[in-house]
Amino acid sequence: MTDILIIGGGPAGLAAGLYAQRGGANTLLLEEMFAGGQIVKTHQVDNYPGFSNSPDGFTLGAALEEHARKFGLTVEYTSALSMDLTGETKTITTPEGELEAKAVILCMGANPRPLGIAREEEMVGRGLSYCATCDGAFYSGKTVAVIGGGDTAVSDAIYLARGCEKVYLIHRRDSLRAAESLAQAALAAPNIVPVWDSVVTEFLGGDAIIGLRVKNVKTEEESELALDGVFVAVGVLPRTELVRGQVALTPAGEILTNERMETNLSGVYAAGDIRNTPLRQVITACADGAIAAFQAIAYLS
Ligand code: NAP
Repeated sequence: MTDILIIGGGPAGLAAGLYAQRGGANTLLLEEMFAGGQIVKTHQVDNYPGFSNSPDGFTLGAALEEHARKFGLTVEYTSALSMDLTGETKTITTPEGELEAKAVILCMGANPRPLGIAREEEMVGRGLSYCATCDGAFYSGKTVAVIGGGDTAVSDAIYLARGCEKVYLIHRRDSLRAAESLAQAALAAPNIVPVWDSVVTEFLGGDAIIGLRVKNVKTEEESELALDGVFVAVGVLPRTELVRGQVALTPAGEILTNERMETNLSGVYAAGDIRNTPLRQVITACADGAIAAFQAIAYLS
């Protein structure tokens, strides 16, 4: 039986793995895709202390994995299909079989939140994307829109503006939520055009997006924007589907932890974007992971 099983190989999970191994626990981490979690979609990480060279997220994720492996963390690339976390022994089912652990740290992160308008699912890959770093290159020299006003939307707009002719930044209010440095850079870019106080009501086009219908929420006026691509960046939804009904959640659907990353179940911890954190950053995810591993080791002993 594994001492500590970590689900998810983003910054929270990899930091937890590093601390758990260094703390002497036999630790296994499951990751379904790439090390790094959501940051692999980030073209530039500017605010992780000690990395003034602003690495891309893929490189930073690989470095976090290499560091944890150096101290003996085992990383298996597989999916958790279901979990039984209520007993003293925790059981995780994967396509390869069942794994047992004395303690579990949940680090499954979050997925992009959909906009919630008609035809959204069917337009994915037909001009609609949730990842500027992945799909931005398809729109070189073209006109796109980014929807949202947070760090993701604004940094995506800055990234896209390097290759696109024009980037509409469509936000439902008249000021950005993003960090001031990002907001200033976006508003100074000549080819980023803010569309304030506006929500998207419709994707225009048949097989592929050719524009957006946009409504000004103050004046109720509707207008159309002709464009080639749309990037939705309206926040994230914590990935709690596997633990719903076992682990207590907040009304917003995040795993409820205390400052020790403890959930309502003994031996079960949560770290990073999946929990009720006030700040979703690499640094806070790593810190959560370290605390969760420290507490899990204390629980084991
Ligand atoms: P976020 O901070 O939650 O911002 C979401 C944005 O989308 C807000 O501006 C929000 O508007 C808007 N929005 C939400 N629902 C909407 C809807 N249905 N229609 C239109 N607009 C909608 O999300 P995020 O930017 O993805 O960031 C998530 C977390 O990751 C944050 O904690 C962020 O700081 C962090 N992050 C950090 C960095 C970085 O530090 N470099 C980069 C990316 C993300 P309102 O403003 O009106 O609420």
